[in-house]
Amino acid sequence: MSQIIQKLREKKITIIRRVVQIASFLIINYIIIEAIFSINLLSLEPFIKVLPVINTPRNPLSEGSGLLEYIFYSIAQGIFPLLLIAIFVLIILFTARFFCGWVCPIGTIQDGLTALPIETKSMKMSTHNSLVKVKYFFVVILILIIVPLGITKYTNIAFYIEFRDNLGDFANKPFGFFSLSEFIFVTLPNILVSIWQTGGLTPIFSNFWTFIVFFFFLAILILSLWYPRMYCRYFCPFGALASVISGYSFLKLSRSPVRCVGRKECGICEKVCPKQIRILDEPFEFFTGDGECNLCSKCLEECPYDAIEIKFG
Ligand code: SF4
Ligand code: SF4
Repeated sequence: MSQIIQKLREKKITIIRRVVQIASFLIINYIIIEAIFSINLLSLEPFIKVLPVINTPRNPLSEGSGLLEYIFYSIAQGIFPLLLIAIFVLIILFTARFFCGWVCPIGTIQDGLTALPIETKSMKMSTHNSLVKVKYFFVVILILIIVPLGITKYTNIAFYIEFRDNLGDFANKPFGFFSLSEFIFVTLPNILVSIWQTGGLTPIFSNFWTFIVFFFFLAILILSLWYPRMYCRYFCPFGALASVISGYSFLKLSRSPVRCVGRKECGICEKVCPKQIRILDEPFEFFTGDGECNLCSKCLEECPYDAIEIKFG
């Protein structure tokens, strides 16, 4: 019994994080709570809508959307959402990537997959460093298409309409194509319903993009069984933009040069980090792993020498 209590004490942060993650998942997807308890939580909607996670307006569970999705959608409509951008920047400056580690439902789903009894692996460092850049590439594509689209609305309306029509769905849901949330909550259920109705796999091959999106995100979900936070690390556009700002956040982790015994003697923090951050190559005063750290606190919790702590300022 005392061993169990000791174990629970050691895993205190993980237990609290899991509770916060599950509660956040249920609040964001509040239709689940409504269904379980037969209550109406519609009044929560205005708050849930502006959570800075990649939900999608088409998500039938949340009926909300992520802050970045609103930002990109507004720009595509020719509106520059200064207030939303300021809110996004301020949230990351004050909380770093706390949302990624503790709140985001897509992070929770990936953590759930990694928690299955399958041994996790580390990506070869050179492969990891190359893949980390993919999410920035996605953001650049988004900006290169969406910003000119928004500008043409006021400079050349005829061109704007033609451009928007040619982009089709992309103009209405620019984030959707890169969003694992869109895949899990919208695309996949729609495909499964079509498969059920038609009795065959043809819906997957109905058009080129459906085929690409289906297998791309399916591969990410399967690989998440071995590689923790696969989507967050390499493909999430929110993660890309948050990383850029998070490097300047007031909330950081630091490592004591007195307590830490280094990689050769220990190195546990790096082994447990789900984002594969080279913590011991980072400065002692603070580390964010180039903004990749999602403050999951796994390194802090597992460090046998209590060398890692959270600091603000
Ligand atoms: S787990 Fe702690 S002591 Fe070990 S290398 Fe990491 S920071 Fe240093
Ligand atoms: S550096 Fe620590 S807090 Fe950050 S992601 Fe890695 S384990 Fe989590």
